[in-house]
Amino acid sequence: LKLVTFSKEGKQSIGAVKGNSIVDLSTIAPDMLSFIDRGDAALKQARQLLESATTTIPLDSVKLHAPIPLPRRNIMCLGHNYAEHARESDEARGIEHISSQPPTVFTKATHTVNGPYDNIPYDAAVSTEIDWEAELGVVLGRSGKNISVEQALEHVFGYFALNDVSARDLQFHQPHNSQFFRGKSLDGACPMGPWIVTADEIPDPHALRLVCRVNGSVKQDGYTSQMIYRIPVIISALSHGMTLDAGDLIATGTPMGVGFSRKPPEYLKPGDVVEVEVEQVGLIRNRVSS
Ligand code: MG
Repeated sequence: LKLVTFSKEGKQSIGAVKGNSIVDLSTIAPDMLSFIDRGDAALKQARQLLESATTTIPLDSVKLHAPIPLPRRNIMCLGHNYAEHARESDEARGIEHISSQPPTVFTKATHTVNGPYDNIPYDAAVSTEIDWEAELGVVLGRSGKNISVEQALEHVFGYFALNDVSARDLQFHQPHNSQFFRGKSLDGACPMGPWIVTADEIPDPHALRLVCRVNGSVKQDGYTSQMIYRIPVIISALSHGMTLDAGDLIATGTPMGVGFSRKPPEYLKPGDVVEVEVEQVGLIRNRVSS
């Protein structure tokens, strides 16, 4: 299933994509978080509706929102989860490269969540070093604590594409003390979607190409196979002594090719169009706008 949150004529609803149209799923649940909370029963009903639906809504007649427009808590994010990206980051900052162990984790505030085709806000008074990070996003479908690596994928509800937009001047304001939370949490700094692809449709989440383009030019081109910490390890590590909930969002890290480590550094400016495409999952496209 490809599950969307959409609005038409001012009314927000959830649906499943069928070709170029949407089957409304609002009879199952009013929003995506309640749908996920209803577990396998909701998925089964959705598949039945998708089969039997006689009325559909053209995809191009609706506005797509982030699949979960307002998560219950911050998005949990992996830092330095691709070796070449970890190296390029440390080199650009002039600090000694040490491979991270255990995984580096930070969070993005809930108001970073942005639609798959919406503008990325740009305010030069706040930051002039806005950067891109193409990532595979994971949404959990089952709660758990101390989840084993072996059972971790059973907690995955689905996947989506996301851009971990980062304000580097805020993030690295203090040279030896990264301000991840500030630099990662500006409003609108996490475009995501365009839908959640349910886990059953992605047999191997570590075999996906992910690409970032800025104004059509390829900046990042990697594979999820290059992750240092794979999704089961990430989920298991995060749940160590900390309960994870259904509906939680995890950003799994970005491959090499971000702007701040380029020579010279490159940052986004108003008018730029940035795309993140994850194979088998989807493409999001956002314009930077002051
Ligand atoms: Mg990131």
